[in-house]
Amino acid sequence: MRFAIFSDIHSNLHALQAVLDDARSQNCTNFVCLGDIVGYNAFPSECLTLVRSLNCPVIKGNHDEEASILYKTGNFNPLAQIAIEYSRSHLSDEEKSWLRALRFQRLVLDFTIVHATLDTPENWGYIFNQLDASASFNYQRTTLCFIGHTHVPQAYIRSVSLQTITFETLPIEPGKKYLINVGSVGQPRDRDWRASYCIYDSDADSLHLRRVEYDLPAAQQSIRDAGLPENLAARLALGK
Ligand code: ZN
Repeated sequence: MRFAIFSDIHSNLHALQAVLDDARSQNCTNFVCLGDIVGYNAFPSECLTLVRSLNCPVIKGNHDEEASILYKTGNFNPLAQIAIEYSRSHLSDEEKSWLRALRFQRLVLDFTIVHATLDTPENWGYIFNQLDASASFNYQRTTLCFIGHTHVPQAYIRSVSLQTITFETLPIEPGKKYLINVGSVGQPRDRDWRASYCIYDSDADSLHLRRVEYDLPAAQQSIRDAGLPENLAARLALGK
C-alpha cells in the first residue's frame, strides 16, 4: 500500500487540493491526516469537508481543538487566535462536534500517528530537537510514527544513537525506529513555501517526502478577501 500522510492543512484549500492531486498522481492508495485541518487560512469548512470525504484516519491537532471547544484556553498568540475565531465562526456545530470527537493518537496498519508528541499528546509539546524526540520515542511501540505540529519536515532515527535528518527518500531499515515529521500542507515553516507531505510505501519499506507547488497568489488573495491579517498571507510566500 502507498499512504499519503499529511498534516497541518490549516484551512489552505488550494494547497490541500494540490497535495491530494499529487498523491493520486503518485499512485497513493490510502490517505492519513495528522490534524490541524483548520486555523490560519481562509477555508476551514471546505478543508474539513474535503478531508472527511477521503474517509481516512484523522487525529486531532491543537487548532482543531481550540476551534471546536466551547471556551478559550488562551494558549494561542494573537495572530493565531484571530484565525481560530475565524475558523470557529465558519464551522457548523456539527463540524465542531466532529472535530471535538477526534482522538489524539491512533494505530494505522503498522504505524502510529499523533499530531504533537507520543509522551503527552494532549499537551501539544513541540519536537524541535533530539531531547524532545527521545521523550516521544520512549512511548513509540511501532517502527514508524508520523507527526506534524512544527510545520518542519524532518526525520528522527533511533538505533544505537539518535540521528536527525532531512530527507527526500528514506529506506526503512530493520532494528531502527523512525519518528517522521511530515511537514505542513498549508503553512510550511522551513523557508520553502511549497506544500509538504510524506508517502509511506509499506511494500517497498520506504518513505518519500514530497513538496508540491500550488496557487499561492490565490490562497493569499482568499486570506485578504476573508479579512484575515495580511501577515498570514505574507508568511505563506516565505515558508515561515
Ligand atoms: Zn499546525
